[in-house]
Amino acid sequence: MDDCLFCKIAAGKIPAKVVYEDERILAFDDIRPQAPVHTLIIPKAHYASLNEFPEGEASLLGHVLFKAREIARAKGIGETGYRVVLNTARDAGQEVFHIHFHVLGGRRLAWPPG
Ligand code: 5GP
Ligand code: ZN
Repeated sequence: MDDCLFCKIAAGKIPAKVVYEDERILAFDDIRPQAPVHTLIIPKAHYASLNEFPEGEASLLGHVLFKAREIARAKGIGETGYRVVLNTARDAGQEVFHIHFHVLGGRRLAWPPG
């Protein structure tokens, strides 16, 4: 996807503070952090949102979640707590239409979310 911001980040065409990378996923810190820890995890393959995500790629979702746990531990919030957020479509406030998971923590997070 030539005009996708996160595809460009995945391809290294736009700089990001990379936290973790392998052949399937990339994790990088959010440019406008909403908490002391705010990292985004994306599959390198382009899927606009959970709504477009193929069931055949289900193992990729598990991979993302276990890496979220690893990143939370590495950033020192594994035990104090963190939230993994997947905003999907308008009412959830999705702004970037390349599926991404937020890993948030380092402060008390309100519930229910706004
Ligand atoms: P959404 O609202 O779509 O779930 O989240 C999009 C997230 O991407 C936002 O938290 C926003 O701050 C982040 N973001 C937008 N543009 C960039 C960018 O160029 N670099 C990084 N690292 N994060 C970005
Ligand atoms: Zn993309």
